Amino acid sequence: MKKFLRIHLSSATHWVGNGFPVRSVFNYNDLALELSPFLLLDYAAPHKFPPGKERRGVDAHPHRGIETVTVAYQGELEHRDSLGNGGKVGAGDVQWITAAGGIIHEEFHSNEFTHHGGTLEMAQLWINLPAKYKHAKAGYQTFLKAQIPTVALPQDAGTVRVIAGEYKGTKGPARTFMPINLWDVNLHANQSVELPLPDGHTTAFLVLQGDVMANDERPVDAGDLAIFDRAGDGITVKAKTDSRLLVMDGEPIDEPIVGQGPFVMNSKAEIEQAFEDYKLGRMGELPD
Ligand code: MN
Repeated sequence: MKKFLRIHLSSATHWVGNGFPVRSVFNYNDLALELSPFLLLDYAAPHKFPPGKERRGVDAHPHRGIETVTVAYQGELEHRDSLGNGGKVGAGDVQWITAAGGIIHEEFHSNEFTHHGGTLEMAQLWINLPAKYKHAKAGYQTFLKAQIPTVALPQDAGTVRVIAGEYKGTKGPARTFMPINLWDVNLHANQSVELPLPDGHTTAFLVLQGDVMANDERPVDAGDLAIFDRAGDGITVKAKTDSRLLVMDGEPIDEPIVGQGPFVMNSKAEIEQAFEDYKLGRMGELPD
């Protein structure tokens, strides 16, 4: 069993662009070493948007050195990037962007969602890449709800949706550079689940809704991040009320982390290079 280490509290809500009221759960300036390979987690709790006409979201911006994973729970997002990819993700869908050597993209609410209004809920996780992949070719994966396998837990305890990695033999669709488990876990009140996770991996979960007990010893409330010891082979979670969690687990990358804005590299010089390359158009551009 991985020992429960501690709870990390999220920051107050701030707006990313005009579309995403997020709490910073953690970022590369506070917990990146401890939570490696995970660099940043923003969570936009359910927020009701009135019908509107203007686009809501974040305009064209670059990334390098990382992957950004957006898990949509409610509402609908639309994406376009410099690779020529585009698409919508709605409730239950996941968008997995490999920025690696460089990508430019925009992240907006879909036109339909903006027009009709509604509740938006999403999480965005940034995953680090080891130095040898930081200049790899950029890529884009979209997983619609139906492509993400859902494991029903015994005794109707709930479900584990496997976005990446493997849960008791069920594999998630995401291609990752390093071993990573990313699971969307739903538990009914008073039910519990055993989550086997590799010894040596960083393990943490965010409670999106409800409240749970970690390893039968520590209460974790909605909005809290529970962090576990790397040593050990799994954790248990018991729901006190109907609960939803985002479980993240991965092999740590033992390299320096230097981040600024949308770039996370291994040195200050590489960050300066990233800004230079972006300025000179070397990360491409959005199609018209
Ligand atoms: Mn972005």
